[in-house]
Amino acid sequence: MKKRLFTPGPTPVPESVMLKMAEPMIHHRHPEFTELFTRVNNNLRYLFQTSGDVLTLTSSGTGSMDAVVCNLHQPGETAVFVNGGKFGERWGEILRAYGMHAVEVSVEWGSSVSADQIADALKGNPAVKAVYLTQSETSTGAATDVKTIAREVHKNCEAAVVVDGITAVGAMELRMDEWGIDAVVTGSQKGLMIPPGLAFLALSERAWRMTEKSTLPKYYFDLIKAKKAVRDNDTPWTPAVSLVIGVDKALEMIRSEGIENVWKRHDRLARSIRSSAQALGLSVLAKCPSNALTAITIPDSLDAKAFNRTLKNKYGITVAGGQGHFKGKIIRISHLGYYDEFDMTAIVSALELTLKDCGYKFEPGVGVRAAISAFSV
Ligand SMILES: *Cc1c(COP(=O)(O)O)cnc(C)c1O
Repeated sequence: MKKRLFTPGPTPVPESVMLKMAEPMIHHRHPEFTELFTRVNNNLRYLFQTSGDVLTLTSSGTGSMDAVVCNLHQPGETAVFVNGGKFGERWGEILRAYGMHAVEVSVEWGSSVSADQIADALKGNPAVKAVYLTQSETSTGAATDVKTIAREVHKNCEAAVVVDGITAVGAMELRMDEWGIDAVVTGSQKGLMIPPGLAFLALSERAWRMTEKSTLPKYYFDLIKAKKAVRDNDTPWTPAVSLVIGVDKALEMIRSEGIENVWKRHDRLARSIRSSAQALGLSVLAKCPSNALTAITIPDSLDAKAFNRTLKNKYGITVAGGQGHFKGKIIRISHLGYYDEFDMTAIVSALELTLKDCGYKFEPGVGVRAAISAFSV
């Protein structure tokens, strides 16, 4: 059976990237690595749309979230975070783990925080040093308008705007410098199309000034050390060399497609899945949906576990289920990274077959037709 992965991280790895990573190991303090890492660093700046340094950390995405918090702050400072899903909630957990005063802005899971809600939180808390956002909340498939929020925050106060871009970078428009974002983090196994194990992080000048004053404990994730090293296209510690080799190839693919075209492709694929869901009488969870993934509510009349089991065992398709209180209630379908139109028709036709197996009533083919119509818009 041909297996197909439709989870919002890990995502499928292109064959050309896998082949590169299978080449013999090289040493990270020798010219062949420096040459490669120079190219990677240039292409990362393009991906993040920043002229500043983008740091490569050997960790999963959460490592870069942890690194931002412990490098930006002093003990006991106040920061705002948004709890609208599992990953927004994680910002709060990390802030509290470092003894920060974390002010929660709570939104219903599936909804997106508004600039007004953030403004209200800032008004009540003049000491806020940073606002922590999640551009694409992978647990619900909701997108946050970080551009508008960043503009509003900067109009009113000095707080830094930090964005978890783990499923946004390489999927949705994100222009770090132009939008005034102070920190962006992402991970390798999402829009970057390589296996898990690397995280990437960029800071604005404001965020670097905060970092220079920060006294929270840190060692492995000391970003000042990483910044000094990256200036020489080097890393403070042994990086995951194979993954850096892989990301070099993946970034080359993104660069040759063009970042705007990458964003447009994700928009097109996301729209096709959303219109298929609608045609099939299923609802999309997020009110303002991300283009990285689509969370679809499984009707109460169907057994979500049996649904996922059929999809996987009978049709070879792996999707993600719900997390937290959405467990057993939704499926999350990825269109993040190495996907095209034909992948979308494959997942939609498998959804139709599975719905049929589960006794759901619909007109066969309506979902696929809706997907195909969305491609030609
Ligand atoms: C996947 C993900 C994370 C966590 O990344 P890990 O690589 O699992 O540590 C954080 N935030 C978002 C939005 C994610 O999608």
